[in-house]
Amino acid sequence: MTEKSPAASRSEGCLFCGIVAGDIPATVVRESESTLAFRDINPKAPQHILVIPKAHYADVAALAGTDPVLAGELLAAVAEVAAGAGLADGGYRVIFNTGPNAGQEVAHVHAHVLGGAPLGPMVCR
Ligand code: 5GP
Ligand code: ZN
Repeated sequence: MTEKSPAASRSEGCLFCGIVAGDIPATVVRESESTLAFRDINPKAPQHILVIPKAHYADVAALAGTDPVLAGELLAAVAEVAAGAGLADGGYRVIFNTGPNAGQEVAHVHAHVLGGAPLGPMVCR
């Protein structure tokens, strides 16, 4: 039997933990034992899907530092979601906003998968 570490438990008040728990509705496009993918509520591209671990980690550094196996599962899910959305041939962008300078709004690690049209250059201003 495997037990979740305290770091991997639900974080009270976390929006994405609420989606994982089914308390907050979302348009789910893929689910595995350890990951969930759902459409961004405010899409920035024709296809904009968020891919998260079900366990709560604040950002990609916390996830990779604590559970690199789960980090790998998250990346594999990203690739499967992109392929499932028809983005593999045309290409897509994967973004992990991390911390205030990146404008991270939800402190539950999430990959933005963006595609469906030419995305233009990455802009930093
Ligand atoms: P961040 O700025 O933290 O990298 O990205 C957070 C993302 O979550 C934003 O793109 C935002 O549109 C999305 N988002 C915020 N609230 C909700 C929600 O209730 N449901 C869904 N599906 N996406 C949300
Ligand atoms: Zn959370």
